[in-house]
Amino acid sequence: MADVLLRPRSGVMGDPGRPGRFGGYGGGYVPESLVAAVREVEEAFREARPDPGFRGTLARLLAAHAGRPTPLTLARRLSAELGINLLLKREDLTHTGSHKINNVLGQALLARRMGRTRLIAETGAGQHGVATATAAALLGLEATVFMGQRDIERQALNVFRMRLLGAEVVPVTTGSRTLKDATSQAMRHWVGATEHSYYCVGSVIGPHPYPWMVRTFQRVIGDEARVQCATELSTGVPEHVVACVGGGSNAAGTFAGFADTSARLVGVEAEGGAGAALGEVGVLHGARSLFLQDGEGQIVEAHSVAAGLDYPGVGPEHAHLRDLGRARYVTVTDDEAISAVVRLARTEGIVAALESAHAVAWVIRAAGAGELAPGASVLLTLSGRGDKDVSTLKELV
Ligand SMILES: *Cc1c(COP(=O)(O)O)cnc(C)c1O
Repeated sequence: MADVLLRPRSGVMGDPGRPGRFGGYGGGYVPESLVAAVREVEEAFREARPDPGFRGTLARLLAAHAGRPTPLTLARRLSAELGINLLLKREDLTHTGSHKINNVLGQALLARRMGRTRLIAETGAGQHGVATATAAALLGLEATVFMGQRDIERQALNVFRMRLLGAEVVPVTTGSRTLKDATSQAMRHWVGATEHSYYCVGSVIGPHPYPWMVRTFQRVIGDEARVQCATELSTGVPEHVVACVGGGSNAAGTFAGFADTSARLVGVEAEGGAGAALGEVGVLHGARSLFLQDGEGQIVEAHSVAAGLDYPGVGPEHAHLRDLGRARYVTVTDDEAISAVVRLARTEGIVAALESAHAVAWVIRAAGAGELAPGASVLLTLSGRGDKDVSTLKELV
């Protein structure tokens, strides 16, 4: 557990350097008023990352508060039905119920080290907002969370949890009233508050250093899974590594643990939010990446039953991995994801988040189509638990 902050790596999924470039993607396209603030975050992160004090504190929080390491569970009955060997990396068992806490604990510690007293965050499904509110309470910081009005309505439970934890939740009523708009609003708010506030980004999106920093904090998923697979599998490394992709943080953290192996990396997007599979090059929220756009380059609204995948783009490193052919990106429909929640629940006794169910749905489809060889080993990151989705599911199942 001591080494959660990763040994430095070169090559694929290494340090993107000062310009923060992943091939032709990434960078820091921020208004002049944010240039200094973003640079300060990078300096602080570069300093904190190798510091044994920082690493030790983070490792302790991840163990004592977040419940790490999370188990690797063999999905015995579903594996038998599909004719494969499916291993689940159980981020649903973390405190607060999704992988978001890994990143937030890292950034909240960084904010405190930088002398900031308040965290600003955007949230879609509310999981990042809940994680931010949790870390703020734990470390004695304030939290202001921007959330689209539409998401506030469909994720009422998480809104209540954030308020219970002492966070201020600010409704965003512009645009599609979902994650994209909440992110824009949070960045705008930060411009006037950089002195005391730290912007805690929830995925591998945004200007440099966020995509790299968030992946680095999420890499604990991949690093733990790598060690667990080494004892669980005779081959040591799974043949396929699968994760759902909204902005792409749980996938990036998982992939980073296996980028230097023979494992085939698969990112599963919602059909209505498939930035990596169907997007085009553009600049949004401070980075050059792939986004769903219309003929005139306007960002198209994303649509997914899973609020956490309702984002029209993908983090810049995923765009680069796609171009390199190191990872491939596929899409799943709402109906497939809903069926996958039910199937996993009834075969394994695990109610997964709708986001995570996209990854499960792709594995079910690929196994059925013969895309996964009989007996193939598949590591799947189950990014979160489905408690937050029960009211949505009640209408649909
Ligand atoms: C936020 C969220 C996601 C999507 O975010 P990524 O950055 O793509 O990981 C996926 N699953 C759950 C449970 C989430 O809360």
